[in-house]
Amino acid sequence: GTSGASTSAASALSRGAEFDVDLFVIGGGSGGIRAARVASGHGAKVMLAEEYRLGGTCVIRGCVPKKLFVYASRFRDTFDEAAEFGWRLSVPRFDWPSLVAAKDREITRLEGLYGTAQDSAGVEVVRSRAVFEDAHTVRLVKDGRRVRARTILIATGARPELPPFDGIELGITSDDIFDLKTFPRKLVIGGAGYIAMEFAGLFAALGSDVTVVCRGSNVLRGFDEDVRQAVTASYTNRGIKLMLCDSIRRLERPRDQVGGGDRAGSIDVTTEQGGRLVADQVLLAFGRNPNTTSLGLDRAGVKTGTDGSIVVDADSRTSVPNIYAVGDVSNRFNLTPVAIREGHAFADSVFGEKAWQVDYSNVPTAVFSNPEIGTVGLTELEARARYHAVDVYKVRFRPLKAAVTGDCEASLLKVIVDCETDRILGIHIFAEEASEMIQVLAIAVGSGATMKDFMSVMAVHPTLGEEIVAMQ
Ligand code: FAD
Ligand code: NDP
Repeated sequence: GTSGASTSAASALSRGAEFDVDLFVIGGGSGGIRAARVASGHGAKVMLAEEYRLGGTCVIRGCVPKKLFVYASRFRDTFDEAAEFGWRLSVPRFDWPSLVAAKDREITRLEGLYGTAQDSAGVEVVRSRAVFEDAHTVRLVKDGRRVRARTILIATGARPELPPFDGIELGITSDDIFDLKTFPRKLVIGGAGYIAMEFAGLFAALGSDVTVVCRGSNVLRGFDEDVRQAVTASYTNRGIKLMLCDSIRRLERPRDQVGGGDRAGSIDVTTEQGGRLVADQVLLAFGRNPNTTSLGLDRAGVKTGTDGSIVVDADSRTSVPNIYAVGDVSNRFNLTPVAIREGHAFADSVFGEKAWQVDYSNVPTAVFSNPEIGTVGLTELEARARYHAVDVYKVRFRPLKAAVTGDCEASLLKVIVDCETDRILGIHIFAEEASEMIQVLAIAVGSGATMKDFMSVMAVHPTLGEEIVAMQ
């Protein structure tokens, strides 16, 4: 809930000659949109600048279109399994342009809803890039207009990292992959984090021949070791090629295609270990960098860290007292719900009566791989490093459905427990619908549940989730 009473004093300030607005938000993505709406609800006069499309990475070229593609990809298994359950289907045919068009309709609809919501919240949205002139002034690049603001929020997000190797311009990033004109039959992916594993899984299921080039000895560094092994085994089993301890050295057009120009031709990929691959597209998924360059941060005096992110305190305040930063640009947990909550806490604290801080303990997360990964809390390695004695409950099982389909893939459920207190320190799942399970389990972990609490819960049968209350 929001209250309009608290900021009448603040708004009065902005109505004086000194400031045009109480709050100027740079960036209309997850964090910026929430902060603008909540601050406006508290009575602040708010202006928000967005240089591209309202909704930001998550809505336009991240979580939402990605999940739509994941849904599309899952029909592959469903069609295969259907026959085992008695369905007789004619051979299904996948049409990439239809999927891209369906995705476009949905993100355009969402973008419209965000616009309407900002309007009805009283936020003035300007379609322009905004840069700092000084600590209280932003310039709208489109028309050169200067806006004076009492408080400024930087919510400019992040963009794909592009390491310097020869021919990198032949590759595409997650920004481009949603709108390819032609379906990539042969896809090479550089990197082995969230984006790499999600797109590897979904494009393989849609029919691409996928190779992941991973510089580490296994994919998804930072995730629990058992989960990493499970996903590697499963992807290999699904025909996805993993080139471990290797990385891309060079991309080039085959000789006979030089001068062809556009991105539709094939690409020769050479790896550091001397591997040679031919691809239709090369997806560069090497992490993301905060959008802080050419924002004029030096003119405002805002400090950045060595990774280019904006340095903030627990209140999301930067080195300049009237300037704040939330979301990916501050490089804390680069997830949409975190950006949203940071934006909300900022707006409540600065413009509402209630000051609060985001609690970063037990942030649940999911990788929408195929099957999914759901994780909350500490990995086994982290728990062993921090706690005196740790119990690990682990179960590998085949879902009931697999008994009929003959699928041998093992799902994994793993619970890490502090022996001293019996409290659950972490849960890691590799299974269908792991994202849905981890969302609910995070409530228990965040509320300090013990293994005894879990054991005392009655199972729902037959489900995947029941395994977690039946662990020995
Ligand atoms: P953004 O959403 O990036 O918004 C920043 C906005 O600022 C952009 O719209 C940009 O155009 C605008 N902007 C930048 N500079 C300026 C300027 N100077 N002036 C005006 N406007 C400017 N997270 C999840 O939780 N779940 C997922 O499933 C998930 N999937 C993802 C899949 C992909 C492919 C990617 C790339 C990311 C995914 N993420 C996911 C991460 C999530 O999208 C981000 O953490 C989230 O969008 C960050 O929100 P933000 O507000 O910080 O920035
Ligand atoms: P990640 O940080 O998850 O992964 C980056 C990958 O690239 C790692 O495997 C890393 O290897 C590798 N890498 C980095 N630099 C190089 C290099 N120079 N040469 C070779 N390999 C390199 O980033 P993503 O781009 O996958 O995603 C960005 C962020 O967006 C995620 O971290 C996440 O916060 C968010 N996101 C969230 C999703 C979700 O919630 N489901 C989905 C997609 C994105 P190494 O491990 O060795 O460093």
